[in-house]
Amino acid sequence: MAETGQRRVGSLSERFDWICDRCRELIADGTGSVSVAYADIQRARAERWQAMELLLSAGMLRTEDDWADFLVYKPQARWTVRHRACDRRSRPLYWIPVEQLRSRRDFISWTSHLVRKPWLLETDWLLLMAEMNSQLTGMAARHG
Ligand SMILES: [Zn+2]
Repeated sequence: MAETGQRRVGSLSERFDWICDRCRELIADGTGSVSVAYADIQRARAERWQAMELLLSAGMLRTEDDWADFLVYKPQARWTVRHRACDRRSRPLYWIPVEQLRSRRDFISWTSHLVRKPWLLETDWLLLMAEMNSQLTGMAARHG
């Protein structure tokens, strides 16, 4: 019972703090984003097709397990977390302002939007979500 109460408190007060992968400082609302470059998505997709052709011609994609392994094939296009001022990329990006991605609820809402994008699974979005989730869970446990 007590544990359930603690979790609820944790989830009400949870707020995920993003850290810039360039300068390693916290990113305040309105000053940065979580983004992925379209060029990286295209490269990831091309590499996946190439790998599939290779594996098929080598007869290595036969069983359901083979395909399951293949579908989590890396490398994927990486979501990066940066201050606007730290981001020197001029390539077209898909970006989400950090203030719109501060809680599990935000993540669920963005995921239900992104899941309609044919390119989502070429990116490491689920990994990002898992990292955020474990960090928030750790926070709730510490505060509880
Ligand atoms: Zn920065």
